[in-house]
Amino acid sequence: MADTLVERVTGSPAEVASPVAVHLVMADRTAFAGDPEPATVTGYGPIPAEIARRMVAAAVTDRRSAATLRRLYRRGGALIAMESRARRFPKVLAAFIATRDHTCRTPYCDAPIRHIDHAHPHHDGGPTSAVNGQGMCECCNYAKEASGWQVSTTVESGSHTTEFVTPTGAHYRSTAPPPPGAPQLTVATIGTRVRVDVDAMRCPAA
Ligand SMILES: [Zn+2]
Repeated sequence: MADTLVERVTGSPAEVASPVAVHLVMADRTAFAGDPEPATVTGYGPIPAEIARRMVAAAVTDRRSAATLRRLYRRGGALIAMESRARRFPKVLAAFIATRDHTCRTPYCDAPIRHIDHAHPHHDGGPTSAVNGQGMCECCNYAKEASGWQVSTTVESGSHTTEFVTPTGAHYRSTAPPPPGAPQLTVATIGTRVRVDVDAMRCPAA
């Protein structure tokens, strides 16, 4: 039954290997330093760090597979920006947006991404960029083209944020999930002072 399914889906015999790409995103410390921070599989969700490391080990030691390591840089809670002059999102930019968004950006949808959409339509001057681009499922992408919908995107506090205004006037916001890796903490001066005071209270002799 599994062989039949593969043949029907791929159109080629089951004994002929079909290429399948799996996008595994993890922090560098998870990959190389044994950090327990979960990794994520684009379109699926988080997986345990140990499983992710085993997948990488299997991919790089199996001659039949081709593993590519691509570095993604994060600043605050956001991945880097990219932009293109073309109407269609170039492959690398589309893969970048799908990696950033994981699933459809419509609030409460969570369906797999099928389209990389211009939040501000391209025919209306919307740029082909990481900020204006968002991952959408087919249903939500077609629905948002109906009259009365307004969609805008921004990068706020380092996170890519989309605001949807529905035909009835309701506002919904959707924020791209943070990439794997420990959150970058900002310690304000007052926070440092409070911590020092608490330490002094615990250890009066010091
Ligand atoms: Zn959707």
